[in-house]
Amino acid sequence: MLENVEKVIQKAKKGKYAIPQFNINDSTSAKFILEVCEEKKAPVILGCSEGALKYMGGPTVAVNLVKGLIKDLNITIPVILHLDHGQSIASCKKAIDAGFTSVMYDGSTLPIEQNVKNTIEVVEYARKHNATVEAEVGTVGGTEDGITGGVRYASLDECIKMSKTGISMLAASLGSVHGFYHGEPKLGFTEMETYAKETNLPLVLHGGSGIPDDQIKRAIMSGEAKININTEIQNAFNQGIAKYYKEKLNLNETGYMLKNITGKYAIPFAKAIVAEKIELFGNYNKA
Ligand SMILES: [Zn+2]
Repeated sequence: MLENVEKVIQKAKKGKYAIPQFNINDSTSAKFILEVCEEKKAPVILGCSEGALKYMGGPTVAVNLVKGLIKDLNITIPVILHLDHGQSIASCKKAIDAGFTSVMYDGSTLPIEQNVKNTIEVVEYARKHNATVEAEVGTVGGTEDGITGGVRYASLDECIKMSKTGISMLAASLGSVHGFYHGEPKLGFTEMETYAKETNLPLVLHGGSGIPDDQIKRAIMSGEAKININTEIQNAFNQGIAKYYKEKLNLNETGYMLKNITGKYAIPFAKAIVAEKIELFGNYNKA
């Protein structure tokens, strides 16, 4: 069932576990992610970046794809279709109009007053359509989908200002980066605890790929109730295909059919990452 994030994330916040946002980039990833989540009875947020939407065709394609998969695969878990890093008010509205049940408005590069003002406009629009909103303060480092930034820790003052906008979850950047980490991540656990308490909002951890398991667990205990995973899934998938070509495995058997190659050498590895993260986040049997 496609729903907004409210019920699922509040339950996670209370239960001290995290809902994964797994990014989808095409029909293949949407399908295998939903299959694993259904198997684990794990509520899921399917994140879709503006770049992924462009690649897939647009927000209407994504909505119909996910709704179609829910129906055809008999998916019974709560599924939230979420715009990841919406770069403008217009793109958030467009996604909501198409049927997205949640959006992230990313005004993190703007002065806080403007970021708050724009977020309020997105929240008001989302409410009319029963959709929920995530906002970002501070900046996530690294590069994802063409979005590059240096790490800038969110301040308590910014978080409190943003918490009054009516958002359902807050991405307070505290040292995480998109893509792969170069060296150990330096996450601000003390800030997480303070911000979660002072804002009373579920926090969102972007750039969850490559953070060691013990730090993920500590982040959840410190207030992170949504953790985004994209890089690790795509990497596992791509490595599988790379291995196939490098070792020229069973070319006759697969007959150069992409569905046979991904089915045997890419999807199982990507699925294993999805399953592993669900277990790590404590999100199984929560549907
Ligand atoms: Zn992000």
